[in-house]
This record gives sequence, structure tokens and C-alpha cells, in this order.
Amino acid sequence: MNIAHLLRRSAQLHAHQPAVLQGDRVLFDYQTLGARTAALAASLRTRYGVLPGDRVAIYAANAPEYLEALHAIVWAGAVHVPVNYKLHAKELAYVLADSGARVVLVSEALHPAARDAGADPAATLVLGSADYQHAVQQHGAPMPVHDRAPDDIASLFYTSGTTGRPKGVMQTHRNLLAMTACYFTDVDDVLPGDAMVYAAPMSHGAGLYNYAQVLRGGRHVVPMSGGFDPAELVQLAATVGQLTLFAAPTMVHRLVDHVRATGADVSGFKTIVYGGGPMYADDLRTAMAVMGNDRFVQIYGQGESPMTITALSRAHLADTTHPRWPERMASVGVAQSLVEVRVVDAQGQPMPPGDTGEVLVRGDTVMPGYWNNPDATARTLQAGWLHTGDVGVLDADGFLTLKDRSKDVIISGGSNIYPREVEEVLLLHPQVREVAVVGQRDAEWGEVVVAYLVAGEGGPVEDAVLDALCGEHIARFKRPKVYRWVEGLPKNSYGKVLKTELRG
Ligand code: AMP
Repeated sequence: MNIAHLLRRSAQLHAHQPAVLQGDRVLFDYQTLGARTAALAASLRTRYGVLPGDRVAIYAANAPEYLEALHAIVWAGAVHVPVNYKLHAKELAYVLADSGARVVLVSEALHPAARDAGADPAATLVLGSADYQHAVQQHGAPMPVHDRAPDDIASLFYTSGTTGRPKGVMQTHRNLLAMTACYFTDVDDVLPGDAMVYAAPMSHGAGLYNYAQVLRGGRHVVPMSGGFDPAELVQLAATVGQLTLFAAPTMVHRLVDHVRATGADVSGFKTIVYGGGPMYADDLRTAMAVMGNDRFVQIYGQGESPMTITALSRAHLADTTHPRWPERMASVGVAQSLVEVRVVDAQGQPMPPGDTGEVLVRGDTVMPGYWNNPDATARTLQAGWLHTGDVGVLDADGFLTLKDRSKDVIISGGSNIYPREVEEVLLLHPQVREVAVVGQRDAEWGEVVVAYLVAGEGGPVEDAVLDALCGEHIARFKRPKVYRWVEGLPKNSYGKVLKTELRG
């Protein structure tokens, strides 16, 4: 079963439905998208010699061509390697070499960087170029979808790498199909006329959600800016309507600020799926007050189980009168339907509800391993369970609350301190806009708690004020010993805070 069958099927079933939009302009219907994709697949095979199982990298910012590139590669039986377009040429060089990519599909603006990274000019196809136009417009009998087994690799996803070298997660056709099925059972339905807007990079989670839209013949909207611009999104919600987007919590934050400042109409937003990093309770409360209670769904996943570990549904989020709503809205929800989730102790034994340990996942979305990296695979997959490296706690109803990455936990004077808990408290102060809490080595305590803060309107506040705030909410030993005000927090290209840099 090749995931490319989803597009092949929709090209017939939804032939004349609009498929790809740039801004609010329709570029192609499903029939055309299917034909262009089949032609590109044929061209990859005949002109570039791409064989089934070969890797083909996509190094491009969000663009309408991204969608046909993704589907054409698997259509030809090959494996796509979506590379974050913000990567440096050196990092790209590593990914190209590690994956052994045979061909690179690249956007015009990134062509020089691809050259610097050592991409073979004869095996580089520039999206939108004359060569590309030729490739997608080939006439003749369409190439059939190449047969693949469910456990063949469809994608190599390089982890965002907040530490060390990125690892290539092998995502199989089965993994991506199970992820897509879970989208419908646990995240959202896709109804006629719905549209997915790609405000976050298509190389990551936003792109993975294209399959659910393709399956139902939904519209794919690539913003004119190619990325995240709150004013543009509000505009698209008004003109395109029925808009769904996947957004990192920092994007939700910025969108909400914009809507609050402008009083914009948000009725054109159907669903905002957030995830990929912690959403702080205070930020979520504001988001729901500004955008409405029934627009949000949270997902928790990682490349190793793409987009699919838990989900906090629209219904659970909107159930604000539930006695445990405050805890639930601060959780990442319950295990998605096709996976099992447990929390285990250091020996790998399941822990009862209420106890904190490492989060493990098992199911059809879990990767078979890392590309050419048996050691990392053996450390991460044990007895059929994926060890996520995230620390969390389940409640009696199956809601999972994440504490932190295990490596971020601070051990001070022998006590475990979860930075997230301290961050949640500091964010309650209206003059604290962003915060990251880390441990720093200390001769006396082992580690001490240090808070890096970015000021909002009104500027920094006195240490004593923050001490008092912590005193109201958390144990004394969790209180930061040092507060450092900074202009901004170091983040990787997906917007995740690089705590390793803060620890120094
Ligand atoms: P990546 O593989 O780059 O997508 O990173 C996955 C990691 O991001 C997870 O292991 C979590 O640490 C974090 N993450 C993903 N979703 C959430 C979420 N909803 N809340 C908190 N952290 C998250």
C-alpha cells in the first residue's frame, strides 16, 4: 500500500474540486494535481534515474509545488527527505550525505545553498523552473503508482536536533497512513469545502497533515508569504474560509495578539491544531478567550511517531465546566486511538496514575528505527515500545501531562524540579512575555534553577516580585536562584527553545 494512492484516488473522486491555492487564488483542481504529480513521478524515474527506495530531498520553503513534490516522490516508489529550509548549507550537506539523496528538489532562492552543500547540479531540479514545468506537464499515459509494502519507507524525517547530529527517522507508508487515520478519529474531521493553510513549514508537521486533506478532497492553501504572517492568515480566513492550520504554540500566541489588537473577525478559522512544544496554561486561556472555546485541538507527537501520541480534543478543551478542566487543559490529552501510551519508571515498569516517569508509545505510527543508526534505534525502541525521552504523568482518566524532556529536568539538592512548572508560574506575571528555566551547575546544590525571561510591555520586573509570585504557587526549593532578562530566547528553526545553549 503506497500512500500516494490517496492522491490518485482523490484525483478521480474529487476531480473538479479545487485542490491547490496560492493565497486565495485556485491554481489546480484534484485532477490536475494528480496528473502533474504522476508526470513528475515519471520524470524522476526516466530523466533522473530515481529507483524505488531511492531518497529524494526536498529543500524548499512552502510553495504550491511542495505538495506535488511530496506525492510524486512516493508515487515513483521513492522516499522523500523533507529538509527544513532554514537549515544552514553545512547542515543540509550532512542530511544529503547521510540520506544518500539521489536527487534534490529545491526552490529557486535556495538553489545556491544547495550547490554549496554539494548537491550534484545534474541531479537538482528547481521547483517552478522551465525544467520543472516540462516535468509536470508531460503528456502520454500517466505513470501508475509504484507498488510498495506497508513497511517500506515513505519518508526520512531528520529530527530537529536540539542536541547532537540530527537522526533520520524512517517513516513507513503504514506509519503515515495510521497517522492519517488518527487525524480523523482524534484531531478533526475534514468536510467538503475545508481548507488547510500551510503557515508552518511543510517539511514538518504542517506538511504531514496534507494527507488527511488529500484523502477528503480538501483545499491546500499556501500563503503568498510562504509562511506565518498573522495579518495574512486573518485575511485568508475571511476570503478562503473553513480554514485549519497547524501551528506551534508561539504562532498561536502571535495570532492571538494580532486578533486581540485588531478585533479581527475569526469566524473563518475552523480549527487551530497546536503542538510541537509546550502550550502554557495562561497562554491557552487567553487564546480561547480571544478566538473562541471551540477552535482548538492539541496534539503531542514526535518525528518517531509522527503527530500521533496523544490529542486533546476540541470537545475536551471546550468542556470548561468540567471539574477537572483546569488540569485537562494543561495536559496533552489522551492516547490517540491507534496507539498505546504508558508512563514507566527507570526500570521500564509501568507506573500507576499520578506517578511521573518516561512516556512510551506503541502502535502503527511508531517508526521502525533511525536510518543507518542501529545504536540509536536500539536505545529508542525497546521491546516494541518507543521511548520518547519526554517525562509525563497520566491521570486516572488517561490524560497525560508532560513535564519536560528527561534531559531538561533539574536536580537541585537531590530534588527533581520540572522547569515547565516554574515557567507556568512566571508567565502568570503580565510583564513576562517568554521564559525558559534551566539548571546550571553549582558546587553546593549540584544544579540551581535559572530563569531566562523576555519582558513584555512595561519592561522587566524586580526579582522580589517574581520570588513572591513563585512563593504563591510552588515550593520554595523550585524558586529560581537567578533571573536573567534577555532580548530573546535562542530557538531552533522550528521555534523550539534551545535550552542547551542557555545552560552554556
Ligand atoms: P519533533 O520530533 O521535532 O517533532 O519534536 C518532538 C518533541 O516536541 C516531543 O518529544 C516533545 O518533547 C515536544 N512536543 C511535541 N508536541 C508537544 C506538545 N503538545 N506539548 C509539549 N511538548 C510537545
